[in-house]
Amino acid sequence: MKSYRKELTFRTSTRRAFMNITPQIEDALSESGVREGLCLVNAMNITASVFINDHESGLHRDFERWLEKLAPEKPHSQYDHNGYEDNADAHLKRTIMGREVVVAISGGKLDFGTWEQIFYGEFDGKRDKRVLVKIIGE
Ligand code: ZN
Repeated sequence: MKSYRKELTFRTSTRRAFMNITPQIEDALSESGVREGLCLVNAMNITASVFINDHESGLHRDFERWLEKLAPEKPHSQYDHNGYEDNADAHLKRTIMGREVVVAISGGKLDFGTWEQIFYGEFDGKRDKRVLVKIIGE
């Protein structure tokens, strides 16, 4: 069995952003040489997410509005976590949007359902954040 590990680093210019990272995961899969197996992709930071959904900008604006209703960034004083930090909303948004995804690898390709793409969700950006890619198989 082959095992492959790679860390990707992302730094967004805004506090919140969604990025389609499918091309970077496909590059990692190609580097791994794995044809049949599993690919795990997880955020290595507790204020960022990795999730699968549609690459459609209207949907991404809907996510942003929905998350702001559930866990509005401001006022910062509404959260117990916000003493030393001001990112309680980002922890909550990350929990809703998820930490990781696992995608089957079949015939050397990510075995997606219709319209599925892998996204990085940033909720407390403007600094380097890491994403782990772990691929196992043969
Ligand atoms: Zn925090």
